[in-house]
Amino acid sequence: MDFSAVVLDDELEAFAAEVREFVAAHVTDEVRAEERRTGSGFNLALHKAMGAKGWIVPRLDRARLRILELALEAADAPLITLSTTRLVLSAVERYAAADLRAELLPKVLAGDVRFCLGYTEPDGGSDIAAAKTRAVRDGDEWVVNGQKVFTTGAQNCQYTFLITRTDPSVPKHKGLTMFLLPLETPGVEIGPIHTVGGERTNVVYYGDVRVPDRYRLGPVNGGWAVLRGPLDEEHFGAGHTDGLADLNIGSSWARLQRRGLAAAVRWARTARRPDGSHPIDDPTVRVRLGRIALDVEAALGTPGPMGRVRVSETLIRGSADLVDLVGPEALLPQGTEGCWEDGILDYAHRFAQGTAIYGGTTEVFRNIIAQHVLGLPRPVLPGSKALVGAGTAR
Ligand SMILES: Cc1cc2nc3c(=O)[nH]c(=O)nc-3n(C[C@H](O)[C@H](O)[C@H](O)COP(=O)(O)OP(=O)(O)OC[C@H]3O[C@@H](n4cnc5c(N)ncnc54)[C@H](O)[C@@H]3O)c2cc1C
Repeated sequence: MDFSAVVLDDELEAFAAEVREFVAAHVTDEVRAEERRTGSGFNLALHKAMGAKGWIVPRLDRARLRILELALEAADAPLITLSTTRLVLSAVERYAAADLRAELLPKVLAGDVRFCLGYTEPDGGSDIAAAKTRAVRDGDEWVVNGQKVFTTGAQNCQYTFLITRTDPSVPKHKGLTMFLLPLETPGVEIGPIHTVGGERTNVVYYGDVRVPDRYRLGPVNGGWAVLRGPLDEEHFGAGHTDGLADLNIGSSWARLQRRGLAAAVRWARTARRPDGSHPIDDPTVRVRLGRIALDVEAALGTPGPMGRVRVSETLIRGSADLVDLVGPEALLPQGTEGCWEDGILDYAHRFAQGTAIYGGTTEVFRNIIAQHVLGLPRPVLPGSKALVGAGTAR
């Protein structure tokens, strides 16, 4: 039985061939090696080539879009900065003043202007609305002071989608204003953070940064509504269920697990044990490999926030199990002597840990599932007013 969502007719086949040619030309071994080395999530030549094709924000039908997405992902194209740019663009299109929109849109589509997400702060973390970075009005400008962490891709971008506190005297969600702050402005300082997962992200300091009011997105103190669109998209994805889109935002992580699993199956078929048998001859090895294969497919088939949690947990548990099966050489990083299958399991195992954190931790996603999917009340956490009011806090 054919479970394909669409039959590839001649035109779609021709498009797939065009995409394959593009990927072969622009997502080369050198591009992949550079990404493994830097963890930057970006390659300028690739990004510009995407712009030349009209693929920064592709106006393609859903089948073509899926062909493009899957080909880029299968080739391991470094596209984190592309994805943050796309997320922010929707807010720019909706909330930026007409002249700013007209100035930026063609540059974004050509690949010359890129956006990163300036939400997380050292003290606030998951609680984005607790942002302390201050913006104070001074005539036609705003003066910004504060610090953000984990501003991924800031070194590749021209603007950050920055959440600031403009009124500390009102409830936290009501005193926030969003800016598209030009990162070249004096007073902006970007420093690298290298994660255990191999990603490069950043700490960004804002010291008396003067930003013209034209870079404000949406109303003063109305920033939470501006942020919600990109944030919801990051949490829930586009929500398509027609078989032509990922069901959850972690699906690409699950496909990384598939690659690690395929390498482990090759190992199980070819390695020799002292008695001459292959690991695959051992039923416990087959069961362990089979369980990981089932977990990956179940995670890919789980929608929305549940899928995001499931993928992350599958990757963390499964990559550890694969390392345990293959042995210590699976932990040798790419490029080291004796490294196994190009370091795929070392990479997957380290990368897995961050998937439980960025874009919202799995605990925060569990809260989202409880409240927004199951309709349960807001959780009452230690220190919250409800708990203190009930006299149960110590
Ligand atoms: C590689 C990487 C890239 C990132 N990229 C970006 C980016 O581009 N832009 C950006 O703004 N941020 C980015 N982040 C930040 C990321 O979104 C935050 O790290 C994440 O939201 C968690 O915040 P925190 O690290 O401060 O942890 P905290 O919020 O301090 O959480 C600490 C612990 O408490 C738990 N916790 C917190 N609140 C709750 C709650 N309400 N209920 C239950 N448990 C809770 C958490 O699950 C966690 O275990 C990135 C992070 C990483 C690691």
